[in-house]
Amino acid sequence: FRRLTEGLKRSTGVLSGGIGDIFTKRRLDDAALEELEDLLITSDLGVSVASKLTQSLARERFGKEISAEDVRGVLAGYLTEILAPVAKPLTIDPAHRPHVILMAGVNGAGKTTTIGKLAQQFREQGKSVMLAAGDTFRAAAVEQLQVWGERTGCPVVTTRLGGDAAGLAFEAMTRAKAENVDVLMIDTAGRLQNRTELMEELAKIVRVIRKQDETAPHDALIVLDASTGQNAINQVKVFSEVAQLTGIVMTKLDGSAKGGVLVAAAEQFGLPIHAVGVGEGVEDLRPFDAEIFARTLVG
Ligand code: GDP
Repeated sequence: FRRLTEGLKRSTGVLSGGIGDIFTKRRLDDAALEELEDLLITSDLGVSVASKLTQSLARERFGKEISAEDVRGVLAGYLTEILAPVAKPLTIDPAHRPHVILMAGVNGAGKTTTIGKLAQQFREQGKSVMLAAGDTFRAAAVEQLQVWGERTGCPVVTTRLGGDAAGLAFEAMTRAKAENVDVLMIDTAGRLQNRTELMEELAKIVRVIRKQDETAPHDALIVLDASTGQNAINQVKVFSEVAQLTGIVMTKLDGSAKGGVLVAAAEQFGLPIHAVGVGEGVEDLRPFDAEIFARTLVG
């Protein structure tokens, strides 16, 4: 977890340093609470969480002397309570042949990289994995998935550039079934500019997958880039309209000052948070641990 801890240092820096500035051996009064609430909002925890946390703190400690260390401890406790219920590892059901995972998210969020990292983890667990390059619009996306396929020893199903993504998903399902593959991960395009097109494309992918297995996709994950801050909340909203999301992976927590948005997302959507990306390498995907994350965030 060193990577995560280091990565979160910048967000920690803001929040932790800010707490230190506010609570220098003073009583917990209205002014201090207001400053703390502002700090929590600027740290991307969201207005709702910020307000709940300050109210809880006020109920417990108002008028009493309180140190920065106390505040950090109490906040870490609250944050852990918010995050613990959504911290759930991604599980593969062996009854699904294959277990289908659809990956959604805006371009650059880290979908392809996350697929590669997950492929590696599943391979290490002895599972057979197939990848489908459903982002047919970007040559680089297809090539990148092929590189990950080679690196992790997983076949990659592709189509011509600009080809029909749903057709590709159908073919991938057929192949995965024929080859009795454990896990099929489908990459998708993340063009938010054209919402209707995106919506139709994802809906069509889901339809054709269901033709072959009505319980699929078994997971529809949204990949969020931590450095986009509050924008991540909007992305979850948009993609929820398009696909029935089942979970979140947050990437780039190694270089972000915005990890706090994960708390806002947890509170607002209650979607399971499966894993966090802490680097570009194949090993840089960690299960999401609520307590470690909370403690790192407040410093
Ligand atoms: P996609 O467009 O959603 O498929 O995004 P990519 O998987 O191509 O990732 C975009 C860029 O972000 C690439 O340069 C990745 O190496 C990088 N990236 C992905 N995940 C992480 C992460 O957890 N940490 C860091 N530092 N970079 C990441």
